[in-house]
This record gives sequence, structure tokens and C-alpha cells, in this order.
Amino acid sequence: MFNIDKDAFKKDYLKKFLELHGKELEKGTQQNKYETLGSLVRDYVAKAWIDTNKRYNQTGEKQVYYFSMEFLLGRLLGDALLNLGIRDVCKEALDELNIDLRELEEFEHDQGLGNGGLGRLAACFLDSMASLNIPGHGCGIRYKYGFFEQKIMNGAQVEAPDYWLKEGNVWEMKKPDKSEIVKFGGDVRVEAVNGRLSFTHINYEPVLAIPYDTPVVGYKNDVVNTLRLWSAEPVSNEFDFSSFSRGDFLKAIEYKNSVEAISHVLYPDDTFYEGKILRLKQQYFFVSAGIQSILRYFKDNGHNLMNLDDMLAIHINDTHPTLAIPELMRLLMDEEGMSWEDAWRITTNTVSYTNHTILAEALEKWPVDMFKKLLPRIYMIVEEINKRFCQDLWNKYIGQWDKISKMSIIGDGYVRMANLAIVGSHSVNGVAKLHTEILKKQEMKEFYYLYPRKFNNKTNGITHRRWLIKSNPELTSLLKDTIGEGWIKHPTDLENFARFSKDKLVLGKLAEIKNNNKKSLAKIIYDSNGIKVDPNSIFDVQVKRIHAYKRQTLNCLRIMDLYNRLIDNPDLDIVPRTFIFAGKAAPGYYLAKKTIELINAVGEKINNDKRIKDKIKVVYMENYRVSQAEDIIPATDVSEQISTTTKEASGTSNMKFMMNGAITVATLDGANVEIRDEVGDDNIIIFGLTEREVLNYYSKGGYSAWETCNSDSRLRRVTQDIINGYYSPDKDRFKTVFEHLLTYNDEFFVLKDFDSYVRAQDRVDNIYRDIDKWQSMAAINIAHSGVFSSDRTIQEYATGIWGSGYLYKNL
Ligand SMILES: *Cc1c(COP(=O)(O)O)cnc(C)c1O
Repeated sequence: MFNIDKDAFKKDYLKKFLELHGKELEKGTQQNKYETLGSLVRDYVAKAWIDTNKRYNQTGEKQVYYFSMEFLLGRLLGDALLNLGIRDVCKEALDELNIDLRELEEFEHDQGLGNGGLGRLAACFLDSMASLNIPGHGCGIRYKYGFFEQKIMNGAQVEAPDYWLKEGNVWEMKKPDKSEIVKFGGDVRVEAVNGRLSFTHINYEPVLAIPYDTPVVGYKNDVVNTLRLWSAEPVSNEFDFSSFSRGDFLKAIEYKNSVEAISHVLYPDDTFYEGKILRLKQQYFFVSAGIQSILRYFKDNGHNLMNLDDMLAIHINDTHPTLAIPELMRLLMDEEGMSWEDAWRITTNTVSYTNHTILAEALEKWPVDMFKKLLPRIYMIVEEINKRFCQDLWNKYIGQWDKISKMSIIGDGYVRMANLAIVGSHSVNGVAKLHTEILKKQEMKEFYYLYPRKFNNKTNGITHRRWLIKSNPELTSLLKDTIGEGWIKHPTDLENFARFSKDKLVLGKLAEIKNNNKKSLAKIIYDSNGIKVDPNSIFDVQVKRIHAYKRQTLNCLRIMDLYNRLIDNPDLDIVPRTFIFAGKAAPGYYLAKKTIELINAVGEKINNDKRIKDKIKVVYMENYRVSQAEDIIPATDVSEQISTTTKEASGTSNMKFMMNGAITVATLDGANVEIRDEVGDDNIIIFGLTEREVLNYYSKGGYSAWETCNSDSRLRRVTQDIINGYYSPDKDRFKTVFEHLLTYNDEFFVLKDFDSYVRAQDRVDNIYRDIDKWQSMAAINIAHSGVFSSDRTIQEYATGIWGSGYLYKNL
């Protein structure tokens, strides 16, 4: 294992500083000092990185490639130090140089190449694969601009570009010698060569794909895996200014711009699909580059392609990388001369797919015309896959045209990516038990009947190294003092902490730790929002993407109601609460942006109303991102997981909160169900419609938002307050929110769940008054959070889907 002592570290640091900046340490800027530390850590990692690759080469272990359009890594320095096992040594050494390690860690810009849960899951998976000694690598896009930066101005979201590379990125290594060419457009020439059809792609536009590799450091195990992100550049000989006449010059510029656009920016839509051609280009770009480089490496190492499916696994994170299936087919057949049958067997055995949502608006489908024009050869292959698939269906389901046309990969003028992903892979998994069950019996039931053995569940997880050990050091110390360190390698050993759930001393410590974390957050809030919040109030938190199905509106309505109660009775006896929100809305999602405005308007009014004597405060923290989540979550008392039942596939922030001792207020949706199963009904607060009730309303109707509203005076009042000028002189400002609830009959049952939600919050208030009882519940939550470590999830993927890793070999 990597090791270094304090003095050696200090020496290395000073040497590196001089090397990079050529001046005295005292004259160095924070940027200089950060860069020095980052580069030094990268040097330490480099040797293990090379050794890991050598080892994989020698052992011929099965390699896993995790393809994802998003990797929401956040900051890397702190986690690299932690996983190398030198964070303490580093801190001590830097202290002696009068450098504050925390400040340097906070100097790092988040690597925000993802929207939310899906991208963060990919990041947690990389950490777990490396830490579990599984040869697993990420493949994605190196967007020049990450997820936009959110500013809140006059209570509304304003977007600014996130140029995260401005100050450089110490973690990436550009590898121009490992570039690939990706081909778009053009035609396919078909010829018979030696009695076999040959397909040649001609007149295409070439794009150079350049990889940038980032090391993924395993936890104290000398494993360093690779995250490979691709950047699009013009092919240089296509872009020679001097040799162009004026017309060609403009064409060359156009070419350059259109190529660079491919890796320019991350689409900011979460669980929403838009049929933009650039997005399809992005998908093919990184999938083609990734698979070409995998095959190149595979062949360079002398392996036989007929054994490909034994030696590597390709996993696709949602349907975004589904073109991996036809692209692998293309390479195996057109470039390697394999037969359709062999290529198909190998491809389907190699690829596996995770479904992330049942929201209809998220299902990707590409217009056939667009697809065919951009990817002519890939389209031919998809057509052939579909032809063979439908033939099988015709044989099985004679005369059942409706069923066949529903399952077809191409239909109604579209290529349906989920259908392609299911047909072309050997495993389809959902991300929580409830979600997988809904896939099997509702959304994908035809496919489930056809391929029952393909479907399986892999409940999501989070890395406890970042989300507990790194972000909550005080709780980590308490856990070490009480139950030792075994849980770090075996997170389910956190169960041992349940023994202390009645231990007054430990409960007191838990309360103290929470209070300290709340004080730190209060300071951050004061510095950023200028709002003074009381660390002794309940910190009640909803942080996640802003989306109608996640129901920030429900949270907002009950705050408005509570405010009304306080106005009507200023002596109302409640435990003071601080409501904390954070989250970004997709720039084109009008309702979500209006929801942000409403929350801010409600906050503005409440925070400045002297009558309620600071009993409640509302805070909207701008620019939600991984590093901010790491500040908020350890300081949270109440975790709001209130999506409409059936709509949140899993959720992962629910797990992060639980692990940090927050009490969850939740609907029985996604992984909340499994959290309830772990902690028991007494240690979570459940409310709202059940799955059955929701599915019934959707299939049979029978819900009237107007009736629900009219029969509840609280609802009448708060919904009127949205549009009567109470929260804004411009009465129309939040009209969209009102209309969504009433005019359009509240498709997410906000009003229907309101009463049940308010009662749930009253229970929170009651329980919190007995702080030992509350902390005892917190202890139980922490103790049962181990199964939600992504280490458990990844072990399940490795043994159940990929057939990889140490555990698999020892089965
Ligand atoms: C964990 C996380 C998410 C996912 O949150 P959910 O509440 O599960 O939707 C989104 N964004 C960031 C920055 C996260 O860390």
C-alpha cells in the first residue's frame, strides 16, 4: 500500500511547488498551492496506475467498461488523499507549512459533468469498483462546459456557463496517441467480396476523438482504474487554413465549429428527452470512440475477438449509450469480418443495460430520417436487428400485431432506444425493488414475458467513503470509537452501531456532532444568503433537481400553511424550523423555474415577518452541486423524499441523508421502501398515496384536484395565496404553478397528499421534542445504512451481471 511520512511529504511538496511555480511558497497564491498538491498527488497515483494496468494485462481479468453520458464527480483531491490513505499525513505536513488543507480542498472546482442522480451514481460506482478491486473503467464525454452554474437573482434562477477547465485540471492526462476517428453522415457502399457483402462507409465527416484519462483511486488497495473522457476535435488534415481558398476557408471554419460543438456542452435536462441531433451525435461520438479503443487494446494484447464476451463487459447507464450495441456489431462484422450470428452472440453477451426511469417523457426515441442521415451504416444494422427480432416475434405471437408493433425497435417513424437496449443486451436492471417490479409488470411487461431472465434488480447505492468518511469526519470518529473500523471495508458492519441506540452518552455525542455540522452550515448560509439561521432549529432539507414529480411544491405548500397557522396564532407551539432548499431547474422547464421563484418569494416574506418571531426560516441555496451536498447533508435533521409514489426510480440522496443520521420523511417510492424495510416503521416517517392507489388513479381516473382543494380550507387558502398577490405584487407571477395544480388536475397528486404530509410533519415536530428519542432514531438509521453503500451495489453488478471481480471468481 502507498505510504509516505510527514517529512518526506513536506519535502516533496516544496520541491513540486518550486518546480511548478518558480517562486517562494510565501508568494504563492491559493491556486499555486492547490495545483502543487494536486500534481503531487497525481504523481503518487501514477505508479500505482501503471502497475494496475500491467496487472490487468498479465492476469487477463475480465474488464468492465461503464458507459455513461454523465459522470458527476465533484471534487477529487480530498477523496484521492483519503483513498491513498495519506489525508492525515498530508494535513499535518501542510499545517507545518502554514497551509490549510481544507482551504485547498475547497479551492478545487467541482467536476460537474452530470445533471443529478444518474451522473452521481456513475461517480459512486467508479469509486466502488476501484475500492473493491474490480477492473472497471468509466467511458464518457469531456464536456468543455459542465452543468450550468445557477445564480438566484430577484428570487429567480439565472444560468451561467460552467467553464470548469478555466484554471486547468490537474487530474486529467491527455492521450493524443490513443485518439480514434468517429465518422458521421455520408453513404454506405455495399459490394460483394468473395461471396460476402462488404460495407464501406464513404463521403463521411471524420471527427477526431481525443481521450483524457482521469485516475480512479481505490481505497487503500493500490488499485487505480481509469475514467476515459473523450473530446471532439477536427481531423487536422481536413483543416489546413493556408491551402484553402475563401469558400473552402469558411467551410473549414464551419467544419471546425460543428466538430467542436460535439463535446461542448452537457444537456441540462434530467429525465427529459429532446430529439436534438447534436445529442445523438454526442451519443455516437463517445460510444464509437470508446468501443474502438477497447477493441484496439484488446487486440493489441493478442486476445481473440471470439472470446470478447468472456474477457470484457460493457455496461450502459440508461439508454444514452445504447448505440454501443450496433457499433460493436459494426466493428465486429465490417472491420473484423465476423458473421452476423457470431457478432450478435458476442454483442448481446457483452452488453448490459440499466433503466433509470419510467417517466414517459424520458424515453429516448430518434426520428428515423435524422438517424439514418447521421449514422447510415448504424441504421442499417439497427434495421437488421429489428428485422430479425420482429421475425422471432411473428413466430411466437402469431397475428398479435399490436403487441409486435409495440415491441418493435423501429416504429411510428422512430428508433426506440429502450427497445434496442433490451433486445441487444443480456441483462436489464432497475435501480430499486419497486422500480424493477413496475418495469416488469407495467412499463416493460411485454419484454419481461419474452425475456424473464434478463430482468433483475440492483438497488442503487452511494459511496460511504465520500458521503460519510470524508464529508462527516466527526461522525466517522464517533463510529470508530464505538464500533471500530471494520465497517469501512464492510459497510454493513455499521449494524453494530445499533447497540448504541439507547446509550445516552452516545446519543448525546450524536446530537453534539449534528449541532456542530449545523453550525458550520449556518455559517455557509449566512455568508452566501445573508440569512441568520438558528442551529437549534430543525434543519429540514429538500435538495435535488427541481421537478414536478419530486414535488418541491408540496413542501412549499405546507410551509405556506404553517406560516398561516403562525400568523393566526403567533403563540403556536412548534419547534423552530429552518427549511432548506437547493436544486437546479432545466433552463427550458418553465414550471420548475416558477417553483423556484415561488419558494424564494415565500422565503422572502416569511424571513422578514417579525410576527412569527423567527420560528421558521426558508433558505434557497444557489448552485446545488456535489460539494454543496457534502456541506448540507451532514447538517440535516429531516430528509425530504416526497416524490409521487412510482415516479422516483430509486433516489440516492435519501441514502446519503440516512447515512448521516437524518430522519426521512417519505412516500413509499423508489429506495425509500427499502430504507423503511431496513429501519422499520418506527424510524422513518411515511405518508401519502400507495403505489396501488397511484396506479389506480392513472389507469382508471377518479381524482379531482378541485374537489380535494375545495374540501380543505387550508388548501383553498394556500392555493389562493399563490395567485392573489400575497407573495408577489405581480399576481400572474406564479399562475403556472396554480394552473398545474388545479386547472390541469395535479398529475402528481400534490393536493391529494397534502393532508397526510402535514400530519407527517406534525409527527416530526412531536418526536423532535424528545431529543434522545430523535437521536436514537438517527442511530438506527446510521446503523442500517450500510446496505446502501455502492460497494454492495457494485458487488451485485459484478457477480450478477458482469461476471467479474474477486468475489465472482470465489463464488
Ligand atoms: C445525490 C445527488 C443527486 C441525486 O439526488 P436525488 O435526491 O436522489 O434526486 C443530485 N445531485 C447531486 C449533486 C447529488 O449529490
